[in-house]
Amino acid sequence: MQKTDLKALSQPGLESFVRETGLPEFRARQLLHWIYEKRVRSIDEITELSKGLRQDLSGKAYISSLELLRRERSEDGTVKFLFGLEDGESIESVLIPDHSRLTLCISSQTGCAMKCRFCLTGKLKRKRNLKAHEIVDQVISVSRLMDPQKITNIVFMGMGEPLDNFGEVTDALGRMTELMKISKRRITLSTSGIVPKILELARTAPRVNLAVSLNATTDEVRDRIMPVNRKYPLGTLLDACRRFPLEPGRRITFEYVMLEGINDTEEDAKRLAKLLRGIPSKVNLIPFNEHEGSGFTRPSDERIGRFQQILLERNLTALIRKSKGRDIRAACGQLKAGCS
Ligand code: SAH
Ligand code: SF4
Repeated sequence: MQKTDLKALSQPGLESFVRETGLPEFRARQLLHWIYEKRVRSIDEITELSKGLRQDLSGKAYISSLELLRRERSEDGTVKFLFGLEDGESIESVLIPDHSRLTLCISSQTGCAMKCRFCLTGKLKRKRNLKAHEIVDQVISVSRLMDPQKITNIVFMGMGEPLDNFGEVTDALGRMTELMKISKRRITLSTSGIVPKILELARTAPRVNLAVSLNATTDEVRDRIMPVNRKYPLGTLLDACRRFPLEPGRRITFEYVMLEGINDTEEDAKRLAKLLRGIPSKVNLIPFNEHEGSGFTRPSDERIGRFQQILLERNLTALIRKSKGRDIRAACGQLKAGCS
């Protein structure tokens, strides 16, 4: 008989498993607590269960874990983890220390079908959606590895387009917020702009923070660098952002990768400020992280600074995101999970 992976089950799935195994209902709650809060990697570690019950359960089930294949530390303290999945695929997660924050950047797919021209992940041919437990397990595994340091924030900014894997990502969000008790305010989902899914997210998923990778101020440029724009152009995307329900005091983050000669002019900055009018927003300017053969370059610091200045003068919050972990290829758009 094939053993059941308890982590691969959703909450109702685990409840049925417990019922079918003939165990009382409260065992489901107990198992969920040990898997998601105590973060155990085997049934044997669940010391609250008797030895006999642990043995019995181990005959029928197991708790899967991502396999740590490699861990690299950058000179700036960023740590990149390469994890192996059960079918031999691999993914990367990146832990970024910043003052009092420890942010974990997680992946939602093994590659990405959106094919943004500036992004290395988008160049990977093979794409598979991660299962909810493979998404959540990045948080569980890294927090075990880093213990006693605590992860304070989670961002879906690793490999993949989270809204292109909607069901598993929202299941993962549910597990993180309800079972792992991570605050919604500390989780950010970043999307390239799959408009119908943004609206569905607002209707059906836990209210986590939203980040939108805008990266251009005209459809002409955005069409060129982000093919998703041909289907969901800027006007539709920003309209969805306007309708996105925000909790009081919350804002949408707009990411803007700065590409020399493409989207970095003063006119772009002015247009960006106009486009975002009426949307509670903050802008993260991300200087392009160069990679071989991309055909793009990063603008000078002065040019990026001038762009930021124009946004600030128009009362926008605009930060220049310092790239972390570039020496170990852990920065935005550099993840490719060991593929050559
Ligand atoms: N797919 C999602 C989340 C992962 S990409 C999305 O696109 O939003 C995370 C961020 O990295 C995006 O904002 C993207 O625009 C940015 N990015 C991609 N390639 C980059 C590169 N080479 N340099 C800097 N930022 C990059
Ligand atoms: Fe995919 Fe995001 Fe990279 Fe675009 S920027 S290819 S959506 S991971």
